[in-house]
Amino acid sequence: MTLMIGKNSVVGINYTLTNDDGEVMDSSDGRGPLVYLHGAQNLIQGLEKQLAGKTVGASFKATIAAADAYGETDPSLIQTLSRDMFRGVDNIEVGMGFTAQGPQGQQHIVVTAIKGNEVTVDGNHPMAGKTLHFDVEVVSVRDATAEEIDHGHVHDGSHHH
Ligand code: ZN
Repeated sequence: MTLMIGKNSVVGINYTLTNDDGEVMDSSDGRGPLVYLHGAQNLIQGLEKQLAGKTVGASFKATIAAADAYGETDPSLIQTLSRDMFRGVDNIEVGMGFTAQGPQGQQHIVVTAIKGNEVTVDGNHPMAGKTLHFDVEVVSVRDATAEEIDHGHVHDGSHHH
């Protein structure tokens, strides 16, 4: 019997993620397949939707809009701060990441621009606002164990908690 991907399937995929310019943003190459529990929000929603009903050996391309991936860019997470806020940092450069205490707890911010005494930081996910292009191959499908369903994640390999 060939298993179709559905709720509580444990699925292994090889994938390549590219942006609109065709640049590779992420890939399973050299890491082995990504194994995830379907229907447990372990994967971006847009990609799960495309995987549902597929079987081992399926390979396909999927274009996922930002809203179904990491969300739209939230302008309120982009702020201009005074350089004084970065006391203790000798050389602030574009691309530097910091962990800041925000209203919703710890937040990762990245410096996106520096102009004089003004430092612009962005707390959006690096993939927010981006359309994602996936090249996917399904390499394994099995039913999750009761424990995996209970935990909401896969227990393959060394991972367990
Ligand atoms: Zn667990």
